[in-house]
Amino acid sequence: MTIHKNLIAGEWIGTEGVENINPSNTNDVVGVYARACAEDAKSAIAAAKAAFPAWSHSGILQRHAILKKTADEILARKDELGKLLAREEGKTLPEAIAETIRAAQIFDFFAGEVLRLSGEVLPSVRPNIGVEITREPIGVVGIITPWNFPIAIPAWKVAPALAYGNTVVFKPAELVPGCSWAIADILHRAGLPNGVLNLVIGKGSVVGQAMLNSPDLAAITFTGSTTTGKRVAATSIEHNRKFQLEMGGKNPMVVLDDADLTLAVEAAANSGFFSTGQRCTASSRLIVTEGIHDKFVAALTEKLKGLVVDDALKAGTHIGPVVDANQLKQDTDYITIGRSEGAKLAFGGETISRDNPGFYLQPTLFTEATNQMRISREEIFGPVASVIRVKDYEEALSVANDTPFGLSAGIATTSLKHATHFKRHSEAGMVMVNLPTAGVDFHVPFGGRKASSFGPREQGKYASEFYTVVKTAYVLA
Ligand code: NDP
Repeated sequence: MTIHKNLIAGEWIGTEGVENINPSNTNDVVGVYARACAEDAKSAIAAAKAAFPAWSHSGILQRHAILKKTADEILARKDELGKLLAREEGKTLPEAIAETIRAAQIFDFFAGEVLRLSGEVLPSVRPNIGVEITREPIGVVGIITPWNFPIAIPAWKVAPALAYGNTVVFKPAELVPGCSWAIADILHRAGLPNGVLNLVIGKGSVVGQAMLNSPDLAAITFTGSTTTGKRVAATSIEHNRKFQLEMGGKNPMVVLDDADLTLAVEAAANSGFFSTGQRCTASSRLIVTEGIHDKFVAALTEKLKGLVVDDALKAGTHIGPVVDANQLKQDTDYITIGRSEGAKLAFGGETISRDNPGFYLQPTLFTEATNQMRISREEIFGPVASVIRVKDYEEALSVANDTPFGLSAGIATTSLKHATHFKRHSEAGMVMVNLPTAGVDFHVPFGGRKASSFGPREQGKYASEFYTVVKTAYVLA
């Protein structure tokens, strides 16, 4: 198999390769991808630094054209790239194609943003002086991404970084290099000058750490676990570097007595189990008031019985495999913990075999959980959710906010009063009313509070807050 190499200073580099394995079928090698070392990361940073002066002053039409061309190619190849995504990460083919379309939309959006760059002109408080406020690129941006959205998360970091005139060193998660390699290849062929985007595929502990240790990165944007996020923060403070973190979640979904039951069950099934529960916005805490509790549990259990867990590429699969053996162990360990803590297993809990060897787990629902149990406090990141029974709305809100995290929160209710109160008092960055906790738009801000996020929001025009630095100029008339 040919090695998909790293892109450094416009050259494809790398001799050592690592197999990218399909979690639906571990006999299927998706491709062989280069493994960068710390020296490669240093070369990539040097290349990005050398490319910055020209790219940061490049014409907006050039930047617009490259990003637009990239968007168009991703969209034209949505079926092929979606299949690659489903094979390397394990979400179902329709989910993977939808994520690929999302990546194209993000590149398209930022192609447009390049043409909308603006500043402000204000009068000074002193006579005969004008004040201009402009946004400038920050420099070399390090991008470190997780495995669970292999094309959308790279797109929502790479596209704004380039749109606002920064150069990039990009390290994707080692488990899913395929989609990131495709993005780098498309941008390279779309005419991105050498060194503006450098791709280094390799281990986080080696390549990622070399990036964190570098004094030449002006900023790092990171999505992944809280543990690695804290490392990004500590090293960034040491280097006086801007940083942005998107980390875990333990998102609540409140279901009130007056909820539309069908809608609440659909939202909970989607939030907790689609994409194999491997979404930072997934809901693993279903907080349900007494009057609807039993009906909700019965209907959700029926719904879960009908969900097909199988190969991500098979037509009719609702839930693909867990991403790898380590994540599967984490999920099953938490199922054991839940049982030992006294939660009742209402459905699932077992690994399952399919035609091909893969990491298959039943969607798993606990009931009789409390908010103090580890399964309610720690992120599991698998198709596992727990129902927490509460007395009324006030208790539901208090339980929903009683978590170290604050990414997304949902409520199912027909009460305008409760929906409005929840929107105002939820301690999450994103609130969903009668919608799943997962599923967001690309043109509006994305991000959380508390231990879920740090720094400016991602996506939409709010992305400029991270990828630019403000300059204030005073001019004597
Ligand atoms: P990790 O933190 O393990 O990895 C994220 C990225 O960091 C990977 O590219 C990884 O490389 C890299 N990395 C690991 N160690 C280091 C290091 N020492 N220095 C620099 N980089 C490093 O998280 P996962 O990839 O396992 O992702 C799952 C987690 O991400 C979950 O907790 C989930 O909630 C969170 N997440 C949050 C999102 C959000 O927007 N809030 C969205 C998606 C996921 P390598 O691949 O080699 O390990």
